[in-house]
Amino acid sequence: MPSSLSHHHTPFAIAIHGGAGTILPEHMSAELQAVIEQDLSNAVNAGHTVLAQGGLAVDAVAAAVKVLEDSPHFNAGKGSVLTHKEMVEMDACIMDGSDSAAGAVACVRHIKNPISLAYDVMRHSSHVLLIGDGAEEFAFERGYDFTEQDYFFTDRRYDQLMAIKEQGGVALSEATYPDDHKHGTVGAVALDKHGNLAAATSTGGITNKKYGRVGDSPIVGAGTFAENGNVALSATGVGEYFLRKAVTADIAARMRYLKEDVATACQSIIQGELKHIGGEGGVIAVDAQGRVHFELNSSGMYRASMDSRGALEVKIYA
Ligand code: ASP
Repeated sequence: MPSSLSHHHTPFAIAIHGGAGTILPEHMSAELQAVIEQDLSNAVNAGHTVLAQGGLAVDAVAAAVKVLEDSPHFNAGKGSVLTHKEMVEMDACIMDGSDSAAGAVACVRHIKNPISLAYDVMRHSSHVLLIGDGAEEFAFERGYDFTEQDYFFTDRRYDQLMAIKEQGGVALSEATYPDDHKHGTVGAVALDKHGNLAAATSTGGITNKKYGRVGDSPIVGAGTFAENGNVALSATGVGEYFLRKAVTADIAARMRYLKEDVATACQSIIQGELKHIGGEGGVIAVDAQGRVHFELNSSGMYRASMDSRGALEVKIYA
């Protein structure tokens, strides 16, 4: 906590991502790029506003992720990828580094903003992770609306599913499809003026998933992690790899025990161990001093950040 005698500027920062994968300039039209950049800057602004007013990091990441869930251009909320059965099944997680509280939901089908539900699981249940029908029952008891599958559905995701079904297998929302739109899972990390760190991640998962498959995004320490005094992290990429390497927990542990800085710790895992087992993707991070770091081993990751001075940065390619 900053000393009340100090007149030093209190740092705060927010960073967001909109998914990683095969994102190549030759596949992107100028119009689409402009729309995506606008969504990213709206999301970062929503979080930044919370922080600038002295709000909490956990509220800032929830606000930023909600904007991206509402955009059809990302693989979360509206615009989520489709399962083998042509449905949307979404996962989300939020973590507050101030007390290590966390809330998550997996496999929800009728909740407009899974990140809001994850936040309510954290605040209003004695659990961390609720899934499927049970998670929705909890939501409806709390007054959430039932949102029809039609709301989430986009033609683009349907075309992607058809293409993947032809090829067989599953794919990241940003894999190379016969489709020029590549957008993914969303996440946010923030440091507030009080020194709190928080992280949030929301996703539709991977195209053509089956059997109630759940990835890393809603799992604390895999896709999402926050620890005050250390770091907040949100991941995107092929969940099966991030789960097995406990990616965000491991990056935080390297910083905590090896005293690596945020850039070194992220690099070690994303360009090292994760890549060695074939894991494609990246992470966004903010440390306790407000240093933002983006690390990716794929060709692109939608990302943006804003610091206490209000300096906005939006990037797509590696
Ligand atoms: N990590 C997500 C998952 O495996 C997918 C993504 O990041 O696009 O569910």
